[in-house]
Amino acid sequence: EQQLHLTLHDGKRIPQLGLGVWQTPADETADIVRHAVKAGYQSIDTAMIYRNEEGVGAGLEGHPDIYVTTKLWNDDQGYDATKRAFEASLRKLKRDVLDLYLMHWPQPKRGLYVESWKAMIDLQREGRIRSIGVSNFTADHLTRIIDETGVVPVVNQVELHPRFQQRELCAFHEKHDIRTESWSPLGQGQVLNDPIITSIAGKHGKTAAQVVIRWHLDSGLIVIPKSATPKRIDENIDVFDFRLDDEDMGKIAAMDTSGGRIGPDPATF
Ligand code: NAD
Repeated sequence: EQQLHLTLHDGKRIPQLGLGVWQTPADETADIVRHAVKAGYQSIDTAMIYRNEEGVGAGLEGHPDIYVTTKLWNDDQGYDATKRAFEASLRKLKRDVLDLYLMHWPQPKRGLYVESWKAMIDLQREGRIRSIGVSNFTADHLTRIIDETGVVPVVNQVELHPRFQQRELCAFHEKHDIRTESWSPLGQGQVLNDPIITSIAGKHGKTAAQVVIRWHLDSGLIVIPKSATPKRIDENIDVFDFRLDDEDMGKIAAMDTSGGRIGPDPATF
């Protein structure tokens, strides 16, 4: 299976396409992950709060080469708590070293994200994590951790799909060499009925989900579509035999709307 990789500013490589497992039931996760690996997925995105890290670990036994991302939950922020939460996640994932650890939300009202970032920096220096990044950070939150520690996250994983393209934040990322990773890349399924997407799909003889995933790849984004259905898991990685042309890219660019956000606003959540 052909798969693209991107290089992060710390020199490490990340598969551009992975499987997201938010809302994947804990008792089904191992089988779903095994299926995904057979289908050619090289990366899995989980989080402590998804309550299925153990399933990911079990599904990846015998596959130390598959890239794993997990995330620090909000209640575990703070220097010591971050270190404890990280070790608990790593145990469940059955890994000695984690590929990518993300701070799940900045939670500015808690006031602990700088301390938590310092713990992640130390964990990386201790050799426990290959790459460290964040999720749901605004440009202000990013500026604060960079100014206070001098360490730039390698990725910021944020809500991003054709109806919510985050152009301003992406421009900020580019300036700082931060890779953008798209969560809810299919708009939780909501963009798949859009006539612009379905018409492009018809033109290429591909499905709407494949067109949207291809749009993320062709836009230089890291993308982690979720499915717990084997047929859809297969479909979502069958995206390496076509490319979108300028006309397709222009039409999807025009789908960006101000009210396109589905999830919480990180500035207030
Ligand atoms: P998504 O945009 O990936 O959409 C998933 C849904 O789309 C599925 O539940 C299904 O209903 C539908 N779907 C998937 N493949 C399809 C196909 N081929 N045909 C038709 N329908 C299909 O939504 P998501 O799960 O919210 O996001 C993906 C991943 O991003 C998550 O699993 C998680 O790993 C991550 N995520 C992270 C955060 C964060 O705060 N960092 C938040 C949300 C999600």
